[in-house]
Amino acid sequence: MTGSVLQAYMICKRQAWLLAHQITGESDNDLLVIGRLIAQDSYSKDKKELKIFDGIVDVVRNEKGKIKIIEVKKSSKSSESAKYQLLFYMWKLSVKEGEIRIPKEKKIIKVFLTNENEKKLLLLLEEAEKVINNKVPPEPVQKSYCKTCSYNLFCWSWKNMKESVYIFSNGMLKRQDNTLLFIDSNNKKKYIPVENLKEILVFGEVDFNKRVLELLSQKEIILSLFNYYGFYVGSYYPREHYNSGYMILKQAEHYLDINKRIIIAKKFVEGAVKNSVKNLKYYKRREKDLESEISEIMTKLNKLNDVSNIPKLMQIEGEIKKTYYKSFNKIIENESFKFEKRNKRPPIDRINALISFSNSIIYNAVLREIYSTHLDPRIGFLHYTNFRRFSLNLDIAEIFKPVIGDKVIFKVINKGIIKERDFEKDLNRIFLNNSGKRKFIEEIEKRMGETIKLKKFKNKVSYRILIRMELYKLEKHLLGEDIYKPFVMEW
Ligand code: SF4
Repeated sequence: MTGSVLQAYMICKRQAWLLAHQITGESDNDLLVIGRLIAQDSYSKDKKELKIFDGIVDVVRNEKGKIKIIEVKKSSKSSESAKYQLLFYMWKLSVKEGEIRIPKEKKIIKVFLTNENEKKLLLLLEEAEKVINNKVPPEPVQKSYCKTCSYNLFCWSWKNMKESVYIFSNGMLKRQDNTLLFIDSNNKKKYIPVENLKEILVFGEVDFNKRVLELLSQKEIILSLFNYYGFYVGSYYPREHYNSGYMILKQAEHYLDINKRIIIAKKFVEGAVKNSVKNLKYYKRREKDLESEISEIMTKLNKLNDVSNIPKLMQIEGEIKKTYYKSFNKIIENESFKFEKRNKRPPIDRINALISFSNSIIYNAVLREIYSTHLDPRIGFLHYTNFRRFSLNLDIAEIFKPVIGDKVIFKVINKGIIKERDFEKDLNRIFLNNSGKRKFIEEIEKRMGETIKLKKFKNKVSYRILIRMELYKLEKHLLGEDIYKPFVMEW
């Protein structure tokens, strides 16, 4: 326990936990810098920043043999928490008198270590110890302090992204003035606030009218429809506001020129394959015998160098995928999810049902991110741009399927989150029932929100942000600013 941790505890329990576990926030957070500069510039004659018991006291002054501890703060806003930080140092050093100084406000708050203050301090210390001794940090709780907190990005980066709403029940989606109302088949009503909404994914049988679509357009919300089996059917995609004619021309130029197209298409395959190999290496480190699959895939990956047309590229990609999927049987620890071969239309076993559903969700997630860029989802490079609705999302999704979708598939099976009872059987197909879909979506949403630290970035980024960044990298390539390199996991 340090004085800073105790002060943090009074503001936010989560912050105290993070600080106590040496998980630091943004060091260049404006307020931290201001606070540090104030402490450095003021009280030049005193002894500053005295290290005691893993903590730092701002100023120690000797006034005619009497020691006084001074804490320097940038404002009186958090003076209560500063008081207990100071009391902590005074108690540790057996000093009876201290001051909180706020140079900017020309304010001095005197603090005394009375019996009553000491009692309160000890109680607080006991509570704080309990919180910081927990294995996991307390959940973030939004408060005004978060705006300026150095952990803001850490706590909220993924939450600040707009939300998705999933509708599994049958019913009716209605517009009520400027909000949406969903009435299910049992007449249960639920309002859907639109302010922080980015997309609605409809899995149930839902009716809606033009007024709903007008509101969705106005608020730039994408509405995506999935059929009974969980397959993507299509999207209502609001008027493109970011699309630029110039970018569409560049996309078309890179599509029509096979030399330019093959460069981008190969990068997508390279990213997908390398991420698949990362998955296999991860499980190899966990005692799974995957060496032969890894070397087989790597040999095939080298063949990409000589490829000069798309059908050949897709053929090699298909062969690599076969080997990769074969390895699922070594990773998955449940006989009911045995992988025989990939079948999509329709999936005839549970593992294929999971892969197909996962792909649907990732295609949609990428489409959603494309909508926030200047790119046109109709022009892809690896997948043919013909009469299909969208192809760029299929291309980019290849890179993220192994790191998002497959990792979630392994998790839900190996941890028993999804079981046999989460599937249904139709004439010739197996598909996830509503409970299975819900569980899978919950896990994939968690995964997309997970943050990772990459070498070239100072801050952690979520997988969802990584998808967006991939699109920006592609934009730069199309504009001739940078050469596109696919995202490959660093672990
Ligand atoms: S951002 Fe908010 S929740 Fe997170 S540590 Fe800071 S104050 Fe606490």
